[in-house]
This record gives sequence, C-alpha cells and structure tokens, in this order.
Amino acid sequence: MAAQIAAGDRRALARAITLIESTRPEHRKQARALISSLPANPDQTIRLGMTGTPGVGKSTLIENLGLNLIDAGHRVAVLAVDPSSARTGGAILGDKTRMERLSRARAAFIRPSPSRATLGGVGRRTRETIRLVEAWGADIVLVETVGVGQSETMVADMTDVFVLLLAPEGGDELQGVKRGVMEMADIILVNKADGSMKAAAARTCADYSGALRLLRSSGSNPEGFPCAMCISAQSRDGLDAAWEKILELVRARRRDGTWLERRRQQDQAQFRHAVESGLIERIGANRSAAGRQRDLAQAVAEGKISPEDAADRFLDEFANVVLAPRT
Ligand code: GDP
Repeated sequence: MAAQIAAGDRRALARAITLIESTRPEHRKQARALISSLPANPDQTIRLGMTGTPGVGKSTLIENLGLNLIDAGHRVAVLAVDPSSARTGGAILGDKTRMERLSRARAAFIRPSPSRATLGGVGRRTRETIRLVEAWGADIVLVETVGVGQSETMVADMTDVFVLLLAPEGGDELQGVKRGVMEMADIILVNKADGSMKAAAARTCADYSGALRLLRSSGSNPEGFPCAMCISAQSRDGLDAAWEKILELVRARRRDGTWLERRRQQDQAQFRHAVESGLIERIGANRSAAGRQRDLAQAVAEGKISPEDAADRFLDEFANVVLAPRT
C-alpha cells in the first residue's frame, strides 16, 4: 500500500486513510505498520492551517487558492478537522461539493472530516492523514477547521503556518474573535474585500493590523508577522499576494531554524499525547478497571474519598494493567 501511495495511486491513498480512520484493533495495527513504512517526515512540504466561522469563505478560498497552486505545479491536499461532526454527524467541512472544481483536479486530494470520532481521535487521524497525503506527493497540505471547541489549537499544533479568515464588519469594533485564536494566527485574511464591502474590509483589516502590532512584541515571529491582509477569495484579488506573504513567513522560519523546531515540538507533543491516550485506552479496555473506576467515582461523588486519593488508589491497583505489555 505504501508503494502504491508513493506511486501516486489515489485509490490506495483513499483506502489507506479509511484504514487509519478505523478503530478496530487489527486495523490500528496495520495502520501503524503503514505509517512506519512511510518516508521520514518531509520538511519541504508546507502544512497550512486555516480557521474561520461558517460562511466566511473558507471553501471559496481553498478552491481558488488550490487551483492557483496546482497551476503553479503543486500537488495539494485538503483535510478537515471538524470535531462538531462527532456530535452532529454532519460534516460542514471538507465537503467536495463545496470545492467542485478543485475536487476534479488530478493534482488535488480532498478528504472530508471523519464523523463519529472523538476530539483526540480526530487529531491523531489528521496527523496520520497528513503523513499519507505527503507520501502521495502533496507538497502543500491545507487543513481547515471551523472554530469549534479546541479545534483551532489542534490544527495550529499540526501545521507550519496558521491563517485566520475573517469577514468585513460594519462598525470599527473588532469582531468577537477569541483572543486565543488571534494569538495563534500568523496571518489574518479579511475576505470579501470586493464590491460594496471593500471599504469595510479595509477598515477591518486596519483594526486587526493594529491589534496584531501589540501582539508582535511578545512572540518570536519574524519581522512583520503576524500580519493582516485584505483578499477576495471569490474574485481572487489579493490571493497571489497572500500566498507570497505565506511563503515569506515559510522562508523566514526555515532560515532562522524555527521551522524544524516547530515540527520537532509537534512530534514531541504528539508522543506525549499518544502516551496519555494509550494509557486511557488500556485502562478502558480492562473490564475490572472500568468497574473499579466507576465505584471510585461513586465514592468521590458521595464524599467518601477525595478525588486525588481515589485516583492514587486506582492507579496503584491497576498499575499492572497499564504497564503490562499489549497482547
Ligand atoms: P465557508 O463556509 O467558510 O466555507 O464559506 P464559503 O466559501 O462557502 O462562502 C460562503 C458564502 O460567501 C458563499 O455564498 C460565497 O459565494 C461567499 N463568498 C466567499 N468568498 C467571497 C468573496 O471573496 N467575496 C464575496 N462577495 N463573497 C464571497
């Protein structure tokens, strides 16, 4: 399968992603073997995270930017992180009908967000899917998310550059963007800067430029970043300039070494996360541990034991379960 993917076989790629999305233990084993057999983490690819509320123009931007990039000779993959689909079952993102022309392009691969997945599960799958699409030959991976739960943090933690897409607003007040999301953004793109919304977009952009200037001093960003720009995803105005800005950041980070450092930190965080979720998985798979956990939770609820003491007792009793080799 790894060889077929490396040869550019889209069907093999799609099958491989389905395999890593499976939670069945034998599939997990095969998926791990597949991931291990892929070439080492390639650092010349660009992983671009993108967030924005529904309706702001993400799919329009991804389609038009994606088509531009393909014209320039790139191979583009689009992935979606949508933890809300775990609850609602509805995929708002990565829907191929939202990017019809791009989905027909041979140099593009679009994968919708898997439904029925936990937040942690979505993160792991998306990271593994990034490895797969890069092995297939995608040199630019766009990971889109809508601001639900911790999804922006998750996407920022698996990408090289993080873009926040905003819409113009009437007044001159900053939108109700969570400060944390703004702090994650390397580049803010104010979309729909066209027609009657052009002036409002310019104002919104100026407001955010001001706000970002205040944030700049604290971070370790290259000169001039983070920054805000106006674009029209629909008319493609400003898309080339926005991409050039993204490349400017990529080049600066590669030059000063923060690029590789960021990816290494991401791998380390992923390792810690895998240890934690592995522990939880092993405990969850053990019936008597699950029963004991329920009993102790009940005792905590009744005030018979403190939460910390209950946790200590539980971990002492089930240390053998956690530390036993997996069969
Ligand atoms: P998403 O939900 O974030 O993916 O947003 P869509 O890309 O589906 O866009 C939502 C709506 O905004 C659609 O009706 C688009 O046609 C419109 N739209 C997207 N980009 C632009 C733009 O640059 N200018 C204008 N005027 N409309 C846009």
